[in-house]
Amino acid sequence: MAEQGKEKDDFQIKIGAKADESVNCGQCQGQFPAAQRYAYKGKKGQTVYLCEKCHEAAEKAFREETQNPNLAKAAVVGSLAALAAGVAWYLFSVLTGYQIGYVAIGVGFLIGHAVIWGSGKKRGPSLQIISAVITVVTLLVSQYFLVLFYLREYLLEHSAEFPGYNGQWLFVSPFEPDVLKAMFSPIGLIIWGVGIYFAYSLPKARSI
Ligand SMILES: [Zn+2]
Repeated sequence: MAEQGKEKDDFQIKIGAKADESVNCGQCQGQFPAAQRYAYKGKKGQTVYLCEKCHEAAEKAFREETQNPNLAKAAVVGSLAALAAGVAWYLFSVLTGYQIGYVAIGVGFLIGHAVIWGSGKKRGPSLQIISAVITVVTLLVSQYFLVLFYLREYLLEHSAEFPGYNGQWLFVSPFEPDVLKAMFSPIGLIIWGVGIYFAYSLPKARSI
């Protein structure tokens, strides 16, 4: 419940309270005694009031959102979204030559939503973990393939030093120190962290 008198809305209610001591429910619009109100922050930061009935209905809906998620379908849909996002990221980088780390945030966002959708619009800790794990794997795999691509470019540009190489697909272990060094940069890791945080937070159980 919001503290009385701290916000503008509360002042208005105080004034109104002298007249009829009631407020309107933000959900059903019904009037009810101001003393029974539940106050929340609305989407735009405004104060929203709910009556007892609507408050309980909202709590019940959020509780049900965490029950019986379809974990297998969440993992499949999340992985498909991850594959699409990873391929799109790779192609974009390869075709434009831009290496935009911020894509990692979009990847996490997309996977988070795909996992929620795949689970049957559910939320909860299991889905948070599925979403975060898929995002980490996607970022690692995409970055690895990009490093291989740029390595190939480098070898072709310096063909004098690598006379035997003529552009064939190459495989270098992801655990090769030089590959690891090319995959991870401090700023890149921070952006990855934001993307993974998004993926982990989106399927979080909601409460009122
Ligand atoms: Zn109501």
